[in-house]
Amino acid sequence: MDIRVNFERLKGDIESLAQIGRDLKGGITRPSYSKADLIAQEWLKEKIEAAGLLLRQDGAGNIFARLEGKGKTIMVGSHIDTVINGGMFDGAVGVLSGLECLRRIKEENLNLSKPLELASFVDEEGNLVGDFLGSRAFIGLLERETLEKGMTQFGIPFTDVLKGTQFTIDSIMEAHKQRLEIESFLEIHIEQGPTLEMENKPIGIVDSIAGKHYRWCAFLGKASHSGTTPLELRHDAFLGLADFALRSTQHVATKHYGSMVTIGKINVHPGAFSVVPGQVDFSFEYRSTSKETLEELEKSLLALAEDIASTRGLEFKSTVVDKTEPVKMSPRIIEMMKEECQKLGYPFLMIPSGAGHDAQIIAREAEVGMIFIPCVDGISHSPEEMINWKDLEKGANLLLAVLLKLAG
Ligand SMILES: [Zn+2]
Repeated sequence: MDIRVNFERLKGDIESLAQIGRDLKGGITRPSYSKADLIAQEWLKEKIEAAGLLLRQDGAGNIFARLEGKGKTIMVGSHIDTVINGGMFDGAVGVLSGLECLRRIKEENLNLSKPLELASFVDEEGNLVGDFLGSRAFIGLLERETLEKGMTQFGIPFTDVLKGTQFTIDSIMEAHKQRLEIESFLEIHIEQGPTLEMENKPIGIVDSIAGKHYRWCAFLGKASHSGTTPLELRHDAFLGLADFALRSTQHVATKHYGSMVTIGKINVHPGAFSVVPGQVDFSFEYRSTSKETLEELEKSLLALAEDIASTRGLEFKSTVVDKTEPVKMSPRIIEMMKEECQKLGYPFLMIPSGAGHDAQIIAREAEVGMIFIPCVDGISHSPEEMINWKDLEKGANLLLAVLLKLAG
């Protein structure tokens, strides 16, 4: 079965979808359940029906397109929601390449033994109540309280966002009950980093997805007059954080190169010219593709913060916001991807994913595999997000070849 995707059609689809949710800053703003997203959902449903595929939407808003077969489902998917002022490839590449693969298989009238299904998951970007709302709903990992009490990053309760849609907390909570058994899940996505471009490889075969810990932390000191409190008598909470930021980064860079640590948001109190900071609140995240490293980082970085606090006369506090486990991609699917790359003559690189993806949620139920294509300058979540279209053609052809093998 030596078939290829219709690349011009796939490119046209990506360009059409990119017209929905255009914002004033030249990017795309299409968070799930927004007006733009609901229009995009309808657009996708029309495409699926026009292709003669079996359309279904679950109670969470996840959209599916199916080609019937016997046994467990081979699934391919990603997401069409975006971050605020995002780009046109993150997520869209996965859903529309998957659609193109199913369309080609249907056009060729191929008789595959297993059922094939495309999935477009809602709110992968976590604009509403944490990452992966759609895939979590699909697998059945959501807690009702998260939805009932959830506050979106737009400052509106999640329940208010739902009012503009046909979806309810009940329908989201029950979405997983409509799910059929999945054997394998494939996702193609832009890399969102610079490695493939630097290595001049059109294809990345993902070997693992990093797990991460999100914490909200604080150093507590003592606010005092900045003109009269001698440096050696201060309990400067900000200096505690500055010390911690440098030393935690040094620890990860020297002992666990490849893992990540980031302080992304800081609030300094009281926050004035003339006052030594008495408290600093900050977000703290660390990521690794190794479970052991993640555990080591949890211990060593928190110990480091305690040590800095006691040396500087501060108090350190930390609460967990979210934890996800690292996920290994299926060795069987990785082997298939390597073989198909060789057959197609595509150079590839084995690569870990530092960013999270729906595939890591589906991994709870099925073997998963991911293909990366390079993005220009490693940029994503930005209007500047760009790809080399030739890489997408290769990635989509590889996706099709592996789907055929899995469902064959
Ligand atoms: Zn994405």
